[in-house]
Amino acid sequence: MGIRDGNRLPLTGPAPGPHELTVEADMAYSRTGEGMHRFTDPADGETYLYTQLFLDDARRVFAAFDQPDLKAHFDLTVTAPPHWTVLANGTTTHHGDGRWTAATTPLISPYLVAVAAGPWHTVRTDHRGLPFGIHCRRSLAPHLDADATELLSTTTALFDRYHEKFDEPYPFDSYDQAFVPEFNAGAMENPGLVTFRDSYVFRSAVTDAERCSRAVTIAHEMAHMWFGDLVTLTWWDDIWLNESFAEYMGYQTVAEATRWTHVWTDFAAGRKDWGYDADQRPTTHPLSRIHICSLKHKTVCWPQVRRTEYPMS
Ligand SMILES: [Zn+2]
Repeated sequence: MGIRDGNRLPLTGPAPGPHELTVEADMAYSRTGEGMHRFTDPADGETYLYTQLFLDDARRVFAAFDQPDLKAHFDLTVTAPPHWTVLANGTTTHHGDGRWTAATTPLISPYLVAVAAGPWHTVRTDHRGLPFGIHCRRSLAPHLDADATELLSTTTALFDRYHEKFDEPYPFDSYDQAFVPEFNAGAMENPGLVTFRDSYVFRSAVTDAERCSRAVTIAHEMAHMWFGDLVTLTWWDDIWLNESFAEYMGYQTVAEATRWTHVWTDFAAGRKDWGYDADQRPTTHPLSRIHICSLKHKTVCWPQVRRTEYPMS
């Protein structure tokens, strides 16, 4: 079968009952930041690849029943040039000759599958028995190194605070943060492999507000590890809750766990009026209940989560 227009593959004719479907496909690299983006650094000619599958771009990379509530375990095998490093949701293993495998993921939605490959510059540490890494393209290495202490100490402080608040262990096996080139958004909460636009690797003097904003983005994506990745919306019409909660948690946790204790002032100045403006539109959502999830139930989708309500404080 050939992949049809729009990367959709119609399934016609299967009789009712269980089936096994095998799809072999050659897919194109992307230059739009959607799917498997390929970038060659003009500074040194090195090439980097990374996936961005949110919201519905898994189909640009692999065959999947691409709905947030249809979760699966994913296995990944990569053959890459010998000097590359391959990052993925799970920890990766190099078997020689550029062949890599990634640990099988827990149940995750297709839009959360991630791989990033290239000759990354990496700084690593261990925290709470898990490997933590930050990564950027080689040409930015001095700038990442200059901020590595701040980035990793902020990350681990936020991580500890989320553990205290959520009362549920981090559900994945590693925490990599890759600062990737030509990224369309601010960051993406892929489990175990968060991607950020690499303008967050500061190349010149910046204000403390910019450092604070970067910490909020780190905290926002980390909140999604629990609420968004472990517990996931049934359908995209609840994305507002996914994002609003991560943003709320981001500011709250930065205020609690980092030196930017004043961050709610930034929120008031930079975010609150945005919410007031959105609230005046016909598309606004009544927030009848705040559903803080009980992760102990390890529920997969929002509707189950909603049975347990916690006061938001
Ligand atoms: Zn988010």
